[in-house]
Amino acid sequence: MPVESRRKKFRRPAASKNGLGGRKPARGAGKPCETAFGRRRNRLDYQHVYAVISQRARGLSIGVNLNPDKKCSFDCVYCEVDHETAGRERTVDVKAMAAELEHLLTMQQGGRLGKLDWFKNLPPELLELKEVALSGDGEPTLCPNFDEVVREVVHLRSRGDRPSFKIVLITNGTGVDSPRVAAGLELLDPQDEIWVKLDAGTQEYFEKVNRPMVPLWQILAKILALSKKRPVIIQSLFPLIDGKEPSVEEVEQYVKRLSELKAVGAQISMVQVYSAHRPPHRPNCGHLPLKSLSFIAQRVRKATGLKAEVF
Ligand code: SF4
Repeated sequence: MPVESRRKKFRRPAASKNGLGGRKPARGAGKPCETAFGRRRNRLDYQHVYAVISQRARGLSIGVNLNPDKKCSFDCVYCEVDHETAGRERTVDVKAMAAELEHLLTMQQGGRLGKLDWFKNLPPELLELKEVALSGDGEPTLCPNFDEVVREVVHLRSRGDRPSFKIVLITNGTGVDSPRVAAGLELLDPQDEIWVKLDAGTQEYFEKVNRPMVPLWQILAKILALSKKRPVIIQSLFPLIDGKEPSVEEVEQYVKRLSELKAVGAQISMVQVYSAHRPPHRPNCGHLPLKSLSFIAQRVRKATGLKAEVF
């Protein structure tokens, strides 16, 4: 059944009194993190692109925001996007996006990013471009002109007048089976990557952490279909919620879902296990201790044979 028609059935859980279910404060709330990897996206006055030092990319990631309207099918407890304030237009202005991306790439390649306040004092190796990420203030696969955006980014890369770069799609999996997304993904090279979110192994925990509009079984089915066509990297974020870690049973169920995916043909090149690196907007949503993240990654490796790393 299409995602849209299931929305009524799989409503987001209602806001809770303790704030877990509520919307988070505006972007920018909370103390800035001092580490390079903890820095938030820097929009540099652009509308469609931003730069961030990304832990998972291990360096500079230039992002393209495919959701100026902030549309998302999840409402994760750890999300840093301010969904309280209205978004902008529904579609991406592809020409404007391309001009901004080209300008930012030129700045980066000319070594000018390090002169900006935001990136000052960072070691030069952190300012080497690791990827151009198709991401955004919502779920990129819900972007109505997803394929046009990918085509433009691929075109910019293929012109040959600048160093090449890897393209990474960062998605929660909701729209990966739509025709426009499939058409866009067809344009990617084999070395480009798709990072798909999987934070839960049970519907109950999925609703607690991701507060989705789609059921877990449907996301798993989409991940499977996609990963049979090309390898994916699974991204799994485990937050502390009200000071509590995910239960051992939940972690085991999550590991089981990965095993099941692998057993039926999913190509999973890596599992990235991490927690909320950016300051959480909700005081009850925190960072899981490293030893707990290491335990989860170890369980994944042992039970599934998949490569799993803590980021
Ligand atoms: S999927 Fe991403 S954009 Fe959507 S709510 Fe979760 S963290 Fe935010």
